[in-house]
Formats: sequence, structure tokens, C-alpha cells
Amino acid sequence: MIPAAFEYYRPQDIAGVLAVLEEHGDDARVMAGGHSLIPMMKLRMADVPHLIDLQDVGGMSDIEVGADSIRIGAMVTQADIIDHTGLADAAPILREAALQIADPQVRYMSTVGGNVANGDPGNDMPGLMQCVDAAFTVVGPDGERDIAAREFYEAAYMTARDDEEVLTAVTIPMPKGGYAYEKQKRKIGDYATAAAAVQIVKNGGNCASASIAMTNLSDTPIYSGDAGNALVGTSVDAAALDAAVAAMLGDIDPSEDNRGPVAFKKHVAGIILHRAIERAWSRA
Ligand SMILES: Cc1cc2nc3c(=O)[nH]c(=O)nc-3n(C[C@H](O)[C@H](O)[C@H](O)COP(=O)(O)OP(=O)(O)OC[C@H]3O[C@@H](n4cnc5c(N)ncnc54)[C@H](O)[C@@H]3O)c2cc1C
Repeated sequence: MIPAAFEYYRPQDIAGVLAVLEEHGDDARVMAGGHSLIPMMKLRMADVPHLIDLQDVGGMSDIEVGADSIRIGAMVTQADIIDHTGLADAAPILREAALQIADPQVRYMSTVGGNVANGDPGNDMPGLMQCVDAAFTVVGPDGERDIAAREFYEAAYMTARDDEEVLTAVTIPMPKGGYAYEKQKRKIGDYATAAAAVQIVKNGGNCASASIAMTNLSDTPIYSGDAGNALVGTSVDAAALDAAVAAMLGDIDPSEDNRGPVAFKKHVAGIILHRAIERAWSRA
């Protein structure tokens, strides 16, 4: 199918983007890589009479690795994340996750901002960003504000970002300890049946802190504080692993779809989290 007719805008700065959003309200939508939005428009699942292309807007394509934090512009692509050696050294979990998103062609176009702003429970970066405790910077008519990734997702395709706001950057505190991004999918290029992002800090042979988030197992990504807490103070032995998995299973709420029934998804989620914790612990 081809999309319904739309007006195309290509502003050079954020002020130009905000002006179109203000003029057309709900009828206007920004486009980053277009690899989620254009398919939705073609399927007539998204009606966008006024399409604002962000490609020419400056200042949103940089990766800055600082001493205490990392700032990633919203228009940075998954391919940029994979290729940036400074980022791979500082936050290898981002590269590990990006390599499991779609395929190289999609990764050249799909942006970090589009992936986290979309609100699709199948997107990998929202859970990842909750795990690393990222904050999203949005700019709108009332100025700029930061929203914690752990508070951003309200329901499928519904987020704390207002319609007139544009997401400009993602900021991550410098990751510490071991990490793993594990994803089970039906085939290369597919969205997750279940995915787990894990960061663990080790101190004297025990787990000092653990951060765990799951993807595509509820309407929103799930940050499971209880799963992380089940590991803290333990040597991440079999009992602690089982307790973390049990806590995570209490937090997710998968639905049956073409990736399988609920019982299967819970089973896969348990295995994926188990593997992710073991790998993160081995790297901690
Ligand atoms: C074949 C295929 C396989 C895929 N597999 C995966 C996968 O395994 N995992 C995964 O995570 N994703 C996957 N994707 C999705 C891909 O990563 C998307 O491109 C990405 O989720 C959205 O990024 P985008 O830059 O293309 O955003 P767009 O499609 O341009 O936009 C998506 C939505 O976000 C909004 N938006 C975009 N940028 C901003 C911004 N800066 N501020 C506010 N709102 C914004 C848009 O208005 C739109 O509603 C796949 C896509 C395809 C085509």
C-alpha cells in the first residue's frame, strides 16, 4: 500500500520543527529514520497529514563521552552506536544491544531517538535505557525538560512526551560493572520474543548492585527493581538467580500473539534473564 497524501517539511532547526508542530497539532508528526513511521503510514495505521523530517536539524547527531556521563543525540543511528569506539569502550552494552536490532540496512537509518520515542513495546532501546538509567531530553513550546527512561513509558505507543515536544538527546550515567543484552527472536532481523538488559556491580565477590529491564513482555518495557534487588548481597548463586527470575516474572505481563502463548513467553523470558545475569556477572 502507499501512504495517504501528506505535506512534507524539512526544517533546519528545532525552532522550525516546533513551529510546524504548533501550527498543525495532532495532524503533524516528526520523522527520524522513518523505519517505524513510514511502514505504519503505508499500512494506514498512522495518519500523518503533516510530516516533519528531522534529517537537516543540526545538533542531534553527536555522541559525547564525558567523564561521568554519555550524551547521545536523538538522530544518532544504531550503526553510529556500533561504529563509535569511544562509546563501545565506555558503554559496551549499547553496542551489544544495537547489534541485535533488525539488520544492517535498517540500522543505518533507525535512530536512537526514534527507537525510544516510538513507544513500541518491541523496540529494544527503551528497556536498555531503563537498565542504564538514562534520561531523555525533550524540547517543546514551554522549553526543555528531562524525563527518566524509567518513568517515560505509560502504555503501548503512549509516553510522557507531549505531542508538541521533540526528543533531542539521551543522557546516560557512565555505566559500571558487568553487562549483558540477551535477546531471543524468531529469526535475524526480528523483534524480540523476550530480551533482557542487565548491569551488575561486584564488590568483594558479592553483587553490590544490579539493574534489570525486560523487552516485549508487557505493553511497556519493564524495569524490575525486585529482580535486581534479589541479586544484591548474594554471590549470584543458583538460589539468587532463581529469585531474580521469579521476581521478574511477577513484574511482566505478556500477551499471546504470533510470537507464542503467554506460558511460552514467560518460559523464554526466564531463560533469557538467567543467561543475561550469568554473562553480566562473568564480566563484572
Ligand atoms: C525490518 C525491520 C526490523 C526491525 N527490527 C527491530 C528490532 O529488532 N528492534 C528494534 O528496536 N527495532 C526494530 N525495528 C525498528 C527500527 O529500529 C526503527 O527504525 C526504530 O524503532 C524507529 O526509529 P526511526 O529513527 O526509524 O524512527 P521513525 O520511524 O522516524 O519514528 C518512529 C516514531 O517516533 C517518533 N519520533 C522519531 N524521532 C523522534 C524525536 N526525535 N522526537 C520525538 N518523536 C520522535 C516519530 O514521530 C514516530 O512516531 C525494525 C524495523 C524494521 C523495518
